[in-house]
Amino acid sequence: MSRRYVATAELVKEYIALFVNRRAYTVQSTHPGAGSGRHYYYRPKAKGSGAPVWLTGQTISAHLEGSMTIGLYAINPSSQRCKWVAIDADYAHAMDDLIKLQFQLTADHVDSALEMSRRGGHLWIFLAAPLLARQCRIYIYDLAGRLGVPVKGTGLADGIEVFPKHDSIATGAFGNAIRGPLGVHRGAGRRFWFYGADYTLEAQVEYLKRLKKLSEEELLRFTAGKDLPAEVRQAASRVPQITEQGTRSKPKFCILDYVGKTRIVGKNYVTQCPSCAQAGHDRGGDNLAILVSDPRFYLCWAGCKKEMIRAAIGHPIPVQRTA
Ligand SMILES: [Zn+2]
Repeated sequence: MSRRYVATAELVKEYIALFVNRRAYTVQSTHPGAGSGRHYYYRPKAKGSGAPVWLTGQTISAHLEGSMTIGLYAINPSSQRCKWVAIDADYAHAMDDLIKLQFQLTADHVDSALEMSRRGGHLWIFLAAPLLARQCRIYIYDLAGRLGVPVKGTGLADGIEVFPKHDSIATGAFGNAIRGPLGVHRGAGRRFWFYGADYTLEAQVEYLKRLKKLSEEELLRFTAGKDLPAEVRQAASRVPQITEQGTRSKPKFCILDYVGKTRIVGKNYVTQCPSCAQAGHDRGGDNLAILVSDPRFYLCWAGCKKEMIRAAIGHPIPVQRTA
């Protein structure tokens, strides 16, 4: 009854070019979990050593041919950038909202591809070159805000979910994975295709390749002077990051959650220094530089100490007690 799909080496190569931004990945369980009754995702580990298993062309091929199903991560932690943005919607009227978003994207001359899912859909935007996760998120949140499309995590139970789900992730962290397109959903036992092309692997990949990719120049233009909604920035700081060991660490402090509007200059975010601002300085709002690839590192050009900056935002550096 089921058709046999063959993933050629060329198809695998094109799939990697479109979707794979790092070699970590997840696998969807072949059987539902005992507790949840749902097909869950896990990070594969080597038998015996428990070492992480990295994504290969062979695994992509198995995904496309339907013998396994993988999940893909949006952000590469070495650059905090992604190759794509996916908007996941699975509530009542989810498709209406996705189509509204697609319409608005088209008005911005941004191509997007609508993929079916079990209860709604995923809307994909591909990027000409890897772009900063934070900048991508600002664009989608702004778009949703202008259209009145609800976003999950802004106090609403139902709404779209934006992948990447984080502005940045720590070294050794993963963020959230989304089901890799064009595979077989284990729970539904079927493939979910993109609407824009025939239902064959070749036609689908060919269609995705032809879409115009969003450039950095366009994204910077769309997000100029904009930032994430305040409630999203605060919620992000409360999300525990899952680390390499799979242990939940306590929410990490991130300076980006406490500063005002940022812009990107070279390798840094530039924004007003909270400590300078408290003293009535830095009217230009450009004294504080925060390293994009690792926001733990920040520096005030006027010489405020880290302790002063932390105190100014009401998050003093914890005092180390010695016995
Ligand atoms: Zn300062």
